[in-house]
Amino acid sequence: MSVSERFAAPQAAQAADIPSVDRLLRAPGLEGLLLRHGRTPVVAVVRAQLAQLRRAALAGTLEPAQLTDAALAAAVEARLTRAARPRLTAVFNLSGTVLHTNLGRALLPDEAVHAVVRAMSSPVNLELDLSAGRRGERDSLIEGLLCELTGAEAAMVVNNNAAAVLLLLSGLAQRREVVVSRGELIEIGGSFRLPDIMRRAGARLIEVGTTNRTHLCDYAQALGARTALLMKVHTSNYAISGFTASVPLAELVRLGRGHDVPVAVDLGSGSLVDLRRWQLPSEPTVQEAIAAGADLVSFSGDKLLGGPQAGLIAGRAELIARLRRDPLRRALRVGKLTLAALEAVLALYRAPEHLAERLTTLRLLTRPLGELRLQAQRLKAPLQRSLGAGYEVTDVPLSSQIGSGALPVEQLPSHGLAVRALRGRGGSVVRLEAALRELPRPVIGRLAERALWLDVRCLESAEEPELLAQLAALRP
Ligand SMILES: *Cc1c(COP(=O)(O)O)cnc(C)c1O
Repeated sequence: MSVSERFAAPQAAQAADIPSVDRLLRAPGLEGLLLRHGRTPVVAVVRAQLAQLRRAALAGTLEPAQLTDAALAAAVEARLTRAARPRLTAVFNLSGTVLHTNLGRALLPDEAVHAVVRAMSSPVNLELDLSAGRRGERDSLIEGLLCELTGAEAAMVVNNNAAAVLLLLSGLAQRREVVVSRGELIEIGGSFRLPDIMRRAGARLIEVGTTNRTHLCDYAQALGARTALLMKVHTSNYAISGFTASVPLAELVRLGRGHDVPVAVDLGSGSLVDLRRWQLPSEPTVQEAIAAGADLVSFSGDKLLGGPQAGLIAGRAELIARLRRDPLRRALRVGKLTLAALEAVLALYRAPEHLAERLTTLRLLTRPLGELRLQAQRLKAPLQRSLGAGYEVTDVPLSSQIGSGALPVEQLPSHGLAVRALRGRGGSVVRLEAALRELPRPVIGRLAERALWLDVRCLESAEEPELLAQLAALRP
């Protein structure tokens, strides 16, 4: 049907039938909306709605049913609801990546959530030493716990691990040299590139060795009067295999001690427990680095640690004191909500035997495969029902990833659903993936090989009813 035919169709309404802004504002259905949302947003939305109707009238597609008082009020209300929806919203993470940077990384355990709520709604001793009645250090709130857990002499916390590395270089190596292996000059997603951070911190990067092999003598030859730091960086998000060599931390420490040059380690994820205890792949721990003699170790709060976004630095008291005096530190400091969450999370590590139930990240990483399989099978029929004949849902073994650069080559056996569109029956996985993202609580899966993959690892059973209720209303 052409535009003119539609225009001429007897059921099309005309622009002249569209009410004015004032008339619509006086319509009975609008009264409640005006009270609830206030006049300004309602007027703006009414104008936008009427403009859309006028465009439809010109195109000949405006139906008289759209112009009843009830229909107009409903359209205005829908627009207001959409506009009032928070932009930051909870989603279902069915991507298979547990620590997904785009989805906010670690989920906080209940203990941390309660601590944050408390710190948000009452005054706290953020910088008040309660025993001395004097001004205190905000870092000191978690320093004791961090030292106890890592074996370090001193510790501090900044906004994230990138900030920790920046502070470490700025505080200890400004206008001096930092020696790093070429195999460790990494870029971590987004824009964290070690050479760039070095430059911004005012430190001069001295690259040694080659991409695949670096030896102790490479570091030794680079040492000189201007050397401020020997640095090791955990190559979080990639692995080199084959003909490779790197220098163990303990050997680098011996070299550093001999020349009175401190050794710093950027551990990235940095776990506080040996993950092999739960049959997970092994990731270097902060304790190991401290025990091997690292002078400073930096790591993230919201990766394997399972806490809030933060950057932690543990190490020698004299060096931490120097970092505390750096002017950058004030710009990189954390707020009380972070400290509240961090303290609660660190406290859980005092009882490692309960960690796998209490620390959300570890609970998700250690979910038994049998449970994941049952859950996927339980979700299969309801999903197939709501998707209809255009799609085929099967339950399939999958591989989850830890994410955030931890253990890049290691995969965790998992289970989930694969959705494929059936040729000729009107299904489209691309459209389905978009429809899932537009649900009230968006569902995030993974499109690959012409299928949509939904890994159930991060869907805890308490959340299942909410997902199912949404699926029932899904119209792909
Ligand atoms: C993740 C990571 C960083 C950056 O940490 P953020 O907490 O995301 O700022 C730095 N270095 C390494 C080795 C990392 O893995």
